[in-house]
Amino acid sequence: MEALTSVHLTQEEIPKYWYNIIPDLPAPLPPPLDPSTMQPLNPAKGERLFAKELIRQEISSEPTIKIPDEVIQAYHMIGRPTPLIRARKLEEALNTPAEIYFKSEALNASGSHKINTALAQAYYNKAQGTERVVTETGAGQWGSALAMAAGLFDLQCEVYMVRASYDQKPGRRIMMETYGAKVRPSPSDNTDYGKSLLKQDMNHPGSLGVAISEAIEDTVKHENTRYCLGSVLNHVLLHQTVVGQEAKKQLEMIDRTPDVVIGCIGGGSNFAGFAYPLLRDKLKGKLDGTRFVAVEPTAVPSTTKGKYEYDFGDTGEMTFLVKMYTLGHKFTPPPIHAGGLRYHGKAPSLCLLINKGLMESVAYRQTEVFAAAKMFARYTGIIPAPESAHAVKKAIDEALDAKAKNERKVIVFNLSGHGLLDLSAYEQFNANKLVDYEYKPLSN
Ligand SMILES: *Cc1c(COP(=O)(O)O)cnc(C)c1O
Repeated sequence: MEALTSVHLTQEEIPKYWYNIIPDLPAPLPPPLDPSTMQPLNPAKGERLFAKELIRQEISSEPTIKIPDEVIQAYHMIGRPTPLIRARKLEEALNTPAEIYFKSEALNASGSHKINTALAQAYYNKAQGTERVVTETGAGQWGSALAMAAGLFDLQCEVYMVRASYDQKPGRRIMMETYGAKVRPSPSDNTDYGKSLLKQDMNHPGSLGVAISEAIEDTVKHENTRYCLGSVLNHVLLHQTVVGQEAKKQLEMIDRTPDVVIGCIGGGSNFAGFAYPLLRDKLKGKLDGTRFVAVEPTAVPSTTKGKYEYDFGDTGEMTFLVKMYTLGHKFTPPPIHAGGLRYHGKAPSLCLLINKGLMESVAYRQTEVFAAAKMFARYTGIIPAPESAHAVKKAIDEALDAKAKNERKVIVFNLSGHGLLDLSAYEQFNANKLVDYEYKPLSN
């Protein structure tokens, strides 16, 4: 079939299973460790924090896991399957022989990919009788996705929102409150950990690592409450594989084999969800020539400058230990606008794949990222989320490289979300006021 400008699937073509990469990895995934014993975590301990089925999925080695019908119905309602779009006008503007395709997770009702796992997590919690779900959010995309899913599945929802975003980005907070969630600025006076930080600094700006610690403390102190996490963990990446399975089918429909597959990484879930169903072919000896590239900010360079070692997932040391590329759990990321990329670590399976050379990673400064985003907006009409703009920048660089070499290559990337609630970042960029931040390693 001729490569159309956008490729759509019917509702019946939505994936019926999530793809679990764990059994296909080139080496066993190092297990999460209990920090008190340094022994592999007892899964039963995880059930106080997470829904039982999510813990089962977290450690599952089944190659696929069936998506419940209720979750598929919810996927339909919020706008799945999403289209694969060819950025023809962008190709023309760049005067490149390359073809640029993106999967638009911006086009669902919540505005980002995070709803794909939020719906699953809300469903499993409701099914086991949980009454209340608690989480943290940085820029607010995850919090608003979980608030929306909790509303749909009739659960109470409480969100600890990093104070800097709570003050600067009222849009996402208002969204969460409209869906019925309770939102608190973190650090808050609702937890002992939050109180201890406020005592040191009344104006503490908060961070994702701090907000996670507060959400966990809240969860363990309340009955019938469970914690939900929007990235990093295996089960979150698993749920995101609806994105890549759809994209794979869409590429097959137009008879295209990707040369390079790109996504931004905060915790790693949107890129893993997009890339793993394609990477599966590479792990099985097909798609040999395809490259997979993860993009992160130079200000938070977990995979390009971090260490591959066991670390905590949060600042307050309440989580278990996972082996990942990390900048250290006490690292406070600078206030770049891509709030979803301000996290010290990355998902263990993604880190293993980078470590084994099956994925590459690259880092960009936010000013060059916004310049790319502005060009993309002009030629596609979509204003990317500042996070997704990192993938846009890499896609444009690949297209320019193809032009220099006169190569006809197929570039595909995941547009993880839109930036319509991040307009103040664009306002700063347009006014030439956006600055870059150097990475300052933790001294220890
Ligand atoms: C949260 C977020 C990210 C980063 O998280 P991942 O788990 O790495 O996907 C990227 N893009 C958008 C739009 C987000 O909301």
